[in-house]
Amino acid sequence: METEKCVYRFGAAADGVDVTEGDASMNFVLGGKGANLAEMARLGLPVPPGFTITCKTCMGYANSGNEWQQGVLDQIDAATRDLEERMGKRLGDPDDPLLVSVRSGAPFSMPGMMDTVLNLGLNDESVQGLIRQTENPRFAWDSYRRFIQMFSNVVLGVDADLFENALSKRRLIAGVRQDSDLSAEDLCQLVSEFKAIFRDNVSVLLHPELADAAGDAAFPADPALQLRLAIQAVFGSWLNERACLYRKQNGISDDLGTAVNVQAMVFGNKGESSATGVAFTRNAADGTKEFYGDFLVNAQGEDVVAGIRNTEPISQLKANPTFKEAGEQLESIFGILESHYRDICDIEFTIEQGKLWMLQTRVGKRTAAAAIKIAIDMVEEGIITREEAVGRVSPKQLDQLLHPQFDPAADIEVLACGLNASPGAAVGEIVFSSDDAVKAVASGRRVVLVRWETNPDDLKGMTVAEGILTSHGGKTSHAAVIARGMGTPCVCGVESFQIDAKAKEVRISGTDLVLHEGDVISFDGARGIVVLGAVPLTTASLTKDLDTLLAWADEIRLDGPDGRGFHVRVNADNPKDAGLALSFGAEAIGLCRTEHMFLGDRKQIIQSFILSEDAAVRSAALAQLLEVQTDDFLSMFRTMNGRDVVVRLLDPPLHEFLDDPRELAVSIARLEASGAEGERLLEARSLLRRIDGMAESNPMLGLRGVRLSLLYPELPLMQVRAIASAAAALKRDEGLDPRPEIMVPLVSVTREHVQVRDVIEGVIGQVEREYGVKLEIPVGTMIELPRACLVADQIAKHADFFCFGTNDLTQTVFGFSRDDAEAKFIPVYLHKGILDVNPFETIDDAVLEMVSMAVSKGRESNPAMSYGVCGEHGGDPLSIKRFFKDANVDYVSCSPYRVPVARLSAAHAMLELR
Ligand code: PEP
Ligand code: MG
Repeated sequence: METEKCVYRFGAAADGVDVTEGDASMNFVLGGKGANLAEMARLGLPVPPGFTITCKTCMGYANSGNEWQQGVLDQIDAATRDLEERMGKRLGDPDDPLLVSVRSGAPFSMPGMMDTVLNLGLNDESVQGLIRQTENPRFAWDSYRRFIQMFSNVVLGVDADLFENALSKRRLIAGVRQDSDLSAEDLCQLVSEFKAIFRDNVSVLLHPELADAAGDAAFPADPALQLRLAIQAVFGSWLNERACLYRKQNGISDDLGTAVNVQAMVFGNKGESSATGVAFTRNAADGTKEFYGDFLVNAQGEDVVAGIRNTEPISQLKANPTFKEAGEQLESIFGILESHYRDICDIEFTIEQGKLWMLQTRVGKRTAAAAIKIAIDMVEEGIITREEAVGRVSPKQLDQLLHPQFDPAADIEVLACGLNASPGAAVGEIVFSSDDAVKAVASGRRVVLVRWETNPDDLKGMTVAEGILTSHGGKTSHAAVIARGMGTPCVCGVESFQIDAKAKEVRISGTDLVLHEGDVISFDGARGIVVLGAVPLTTASLTKDLDTLLAWADEIRLDGPDGRGFHVRVNADNPKDAGLALSFGAEAIGLCRTEHMFLGDRKQIIQSFILSEDAAVRSAALAQLLEVQTDDFLSMFRTMNGRDVVVRLLDPPLHEFLDDPRELAVSIARLEASGAEGERLLEARSLLRRIDGMAESNPMLGLRGVRLSLLYPELPLMQVRAIASAAAALKRDEGLDPRPEIMVPLVSVTREHVQVRDVIEGVIGQVEREYGVKLEIPVGTMIELPRACLVADQIAKHADFFCFGTNDLTQTVFGFSRDDAEAKFIPVYLHKGILDVNPFETIDDAVLEMVSMAVSKGRESNPAMSYGVCGEHGGDPLSIKRFFKDANVDYVSCSPYRVPVARLSAAHAMLELR
């Protein structure tokens, strides 16, 4: 049976003819580095010859318990002999040795996560050959000591500090400050010391192949053994802890494996005409079209990264007469690579005694701002199309751009972790109540509001705070939803914060730390991390480039197959958010949660409606509510003139508008303890009875949504009157074009919708007659319960549109409480691999299936209807794509700050369909 090919050659043969076997399309076979080395060799660029061992070989080795599979070592031996022939040199040759590098290279870039060994092939004999060839003993001994150091640490896990200590000691003895000032003799001495460190720290029990005649561990002299051990170590580094963590964080599969590139060494440390460097073909920080990077004369790759000496900017390379020729060649290669890859490239190179060698290239990572500028510039330069430009900017990057970030240069130590509820970074003094937040901000301080969980009463504090941190609640908790809506950073479910709001302190579990009001913390809401003290921030803003890119994204998303577009609306409850969302490109309001209009000084009014037993007090409260709601809608419809505004009837359980019964019970106890009797105490007790009477065991599954409208019909009567009369007045008196739509929440039974719709239409009819204007106000259903999805065809016969409340739908499809699950068990489920993603953040397959079924049932029975999604998933890039492609919805609606991200994600969805 023939063994599968697991080694691919790249670079030239001895006669200069290219013998490369791979190319850039073989990323998953050869890893990014191997595929691009092959591609560069094919382009005729100066690539040191070598070979790549495939990613699959790594997985085969790992899956068979770190055993080589049959035939693989033979292929590696053959490739090694072939490389020796091509180079005209042999590994370990005492006269003119070949040295090789052994580098990892996975299909996705995992910078610094896996291992590399350089200068492989040196031993006590071949170092003499290197001295003879280079006539540079210092260089040869330095290469040898580097090899022992790197090999011992990377391949056999010897503590790197042991070598660094020996190096420092040697510098002291020699009386020099820099490694580069050590003499050949010093370095030769170090080689002996390093070998002794090796002997003392490597166990022959674990590595019997390293035992010498005396039974001690000896540094391996045989290059074939060096090579095999180095390859094994690179394979093993695929599964090291940091690589596994990096993959988890970046959604890279553990099953891909890493390739290993064995390549002839070239030396940037062969004297003053040698150098090494890294460069980008454009500025990767801001996107400017300029060569960007650094080089270091007389150095090897790791010196650049270690920052031992100051590097020089790449723009200076040509200016140095020694490097003029290599610099010019490098610039022309920049051009070749950019036009070949049609993107910014990231390059590693070495100049060995004036000759340029290309060691690596890949499409360059860039900041969000650079990604946008480069995409636009490349369209203008005719390199890529607008579609490609839009496709190249990731929604995640865009999200970053729109919010402040921790300065990447800042050195941070994470104090606590929670859920990344609302992006952006915040720095401020801790306050524990909204009142304290308001007071502190009024006196010019910056605060972060730290709460167990927020409630509607906290709005004033949330509005002024730099950020919000809660120890409980998930990504659809009150704090998270409101913070995202306001564009305020938020981390929730920080369970190690044991908050005592009364004592104004927070204990950090697992530490002795107690933080008090006024102590400064910082947190990053995109990463869910909290840091003690003030971390410097970088701020971003909407730029002209971003506007251009989003305009292109709009062209794409609105021009779908069969004239079908993908629209983006906003969830906004007030004219300020509505205006902001318009500036971010929202087309309409997809969800106006009217309960947010009942807060602040209006809470008193709704409380008297809910709690009073006196009919006159209740109707006075309703009249007052009607007045303020009408004003609200007048300004909303004015701001959104000519655009749809979907207003949802009151949804939350009514107790959310009432005082906290626990606090009330405490004040009653205090009154009783102080011996107080009389009116106040009686009133407090009766209030507590009524609040308790409204309590439900499961309020989120209780008297809320459409059920409220059916049990308290005065509420929809009042709300619809406010909506309709605001629209009628604007139409008649101001000649405007208000376009309200009314949405009935939490419907599960068709007749719920039908009966409430009757009430709604009755009121609209009355208002039309009163104002003498014709109103066209569509009435839609919010689909957020599994039953509603199952009977969507029936409901559709009575509805003008469907909008999916995927927060409640996720809650009810899974039977997971949206207020508790994310803090309590979803992280454990993610850790155990029971769930791949948090379903309250990215739409789950089964929930999507529900949406998709309801859309097709609806379309069949009422083809004229439109379909949207207004749950939090409406702002999540992955979910947005799936809603459009897999569930056939027409729009998503999300909080204002997520609108640009949604526009871009919608365009990406459309591009995937083309
Ligand atoms: C939903 O359930 O998805 C929704 C948008 O409504 P709310 O979050 O207000 O319950
Ligand atoms: Mg809902």
